[in-house]
Amino acid sequence: MYIDSTGARWFKGNLHTHTTNSDGRISPEDCVALFRKNGYDFLSLTDHWKLSETRIHENGMLLLSGTEYDFGRTVQEGIYHIVGIGYRGDPGVTRQDTPQNCIDKIHAAGGLADLAHPAWSMNSLDQLLPLRDVDYTEIFNSTSDLPRNCRPYSGETVDLLAARGIFWKTAAVDDCHWYEGDECRSFIWVRAEDCTEEAILSTMRRGDFYSSQGPRMSVTFDADAGIVSVDCPPEDDVKTAVYFTDTAWTGHRSDNAAGDAPLTHGEFALTGRETFVRVEVVDRAGRYAWGQTVKVKEG
Ligand SMILES: [Zn+2]
Ligand SMILES: [Zn+2]
Repeated sequence: MYIDSTGARWFKGNLHTHTTNSDGRISPEDCVALFRKNGYDFLSLTDHWKLSETRIHENGMLLLSGTEYDFGRTVQEGIYHIVGIGYRGDPGVTRQDTPQNCIDKIHAAGGLADLAHPAWSMNSLDQLLPLRDVDYTEIFNSTSDLPRNCRPYSGETVDLLAARGIFWKTAAVDDCHWYEGDECRSFIWVRAEDCTEEAILSTMRRGDFYSSQGPRMSVTFDADAGIVSVDCPPEDDVKTAVYFTDTAWTGHRSDNAAGDAPLTHGEFALTGRETFVRVEVVDRAGRYAWGQTVKVKEG
């Protein structure tokens, strides 16, 4: 948890985790202990087709219920991995369900539905556009990165969807399986009064959270002035801020630190042609933070 310059509290969590309950390499107990030791406030154990329960662990960690469901075997037919978190009871998803039924059942059980790692799944827009009510998708998935995998980053999918008016929220997750570098790496910061199930889920529904591997940031959008700003604490040593939009060409798309000084403030002036904007920052160690996509105007 950290407290920002306005006094708001931000809690740290990972919402996609595997253990020996499916194909992860360490036990649920060891997993919870590892994340707690690394400063996490909440965690969801999301083993394949195995339910986990919402509870407070004796070490203080808030555990949110979670499961990963998968449908489809080939890129051509569509591979859909859907992570449900924060549900009550058993959503009752079966292998005969469609991806949309799965999402609907997670919602009926009071949970949030995550369309996991679209870049790793090689989801096309044709496969994603028919889906309704996806709560968030994974802008970065640690275990999809090197050394065992590729395509960890789904920012392009997020942008292509936004350009078509689909604004799913975004979360970075570890999806850790092997615990040799895919753990405690990519996470979300959620703004809430307290780290309770109710507070975390309701804030996530509002979208008052962002993703990070280290750097902290605050993004503000002044609609009247047409300016998006980002502020980062100097101790986080941010090097570059990048502004993603649906204008393919723009004269200014990034702000960079001057010399060795950290970048603490960046601004992007909209040209009037953008329908959305989102901000990423990267620190000198190469760790990213990703803000939510902001809808600027109707496309
Ligand atoms: Zn998956
Ligand atoms: Zn997974």
